[in-house]
Amino acid sequence: MLYQADQELTDFVQSLPKTEMHLHIEGACPFELLQEMDPEKHADPPVFWDNDYRYESFDHFMDLYIQYCGEFFNSAQRYHEAAKIVLRRCHDQNVKYVETSFHGGVIPFIKEDGPEIIAAIKAGAPDGLEVRVFMGVCHNDYKDDLKAVIDDCISWDGLAGLDLHGWEDMELEPWTAEIWRRSREAGKFNKSHAGEFMGPDFVRKIIDELKVTRIEHGVRALEDPALVERLVREGIALDICPISNLKLQVVPSMAEHPIRRLFDAGVTITVNSDDPFFLGNSLSEDYYAITQDLNFTKPELVQLARNGFELALWDKASKKEYIDELDEIAGAL
Ligand SMILES: [Zn+2]
Repeated sequence: MLYQADQELTDFVQSLPKTEMHLHIEGACPFELLQEMDPEKHADPPVFWDNDYRYESFDHFMDLYIQYCGEFFNSAQRYHEAAKIVLRRCHDQNVKYVETSFHGGVIPFIKEDGPEIIAAIKAGAPDGLEVRVFMGVCHNDYKDDLKAVIDDCISWDGLAGLDLHGWEDMELEPWTAEIWRRSREAGKFNKSHAGEFMGPDFVRKIIDELKVTRIEHGVRALEDPALVERLVREGIALDICPISNLKLQVVPSMAEHPIRRLFDAGVTITVNSDDPFFLGNSLSEDYYAITQDLNFTKPELVQLARNGFELALWDKASKKEYIDELDEIAGAL
């Protein structure tokens, strides 16, 4: 573990009902399942679990992703097995609501279709944990067999929405805005990764063209004060993953992470774990990191958890139950 908390902080973070808004199911793959699949290949703990491990680039991260998990996610059953463990771990950390995505690019390669994968993931949720499933697509995925999948997903009942992910520096192709529009009009909630590797101009482009109100990461928005102001004014939220940004060298150190300044500027922020298998983190540890290196106070941690419930795609009464609980915790501080 990169960040160890004392008992008091451990207990406090555990006591907060939380959300996890930015979690890639493949990137959360439980190591024990990989070991079961191929004990010889996975005999040793992965190198990227070392505390001082840093990915050289997003390509480097993706190479390792394919090396470790490429062959695992080959059926809806495998998604179910992974989800059972991943969602149990969320639940154990007092997470009440999860938004997770799976990569749409797997569908042409497995025998099940999208709705079966979504159902398999949802069936892995323990009682007391609400789960929304998104389909992640890359900038250049609208071609070949995937084109039909992307057109089709708009009508899948179990799908919460789309999330644009993958290589951020690839061109934003014109189909994206059209699919995001159709999906939005069909009642889905769409998100997009931006501002992790690309700067403020790309974040602005994503907001303008895809009309999203939730950006995954978005930390580089800080480089442009006018954009930060716009995020505040338009209520556009950032689902930030501090340890991910550190290990992928989006930031040089946790102390320099933009989350502090974005939060202070009034941007709506949630804290999330991104790819816990490849980062060796847990959601609680991300809360410890910003407390220890960025001086987030207990009331501020409550606020971050509360933001997640405010943004959750969940009925008002369920959200209110946890918002009230958080307000009570804050009131007692
Ligand atoms: Zn992500």
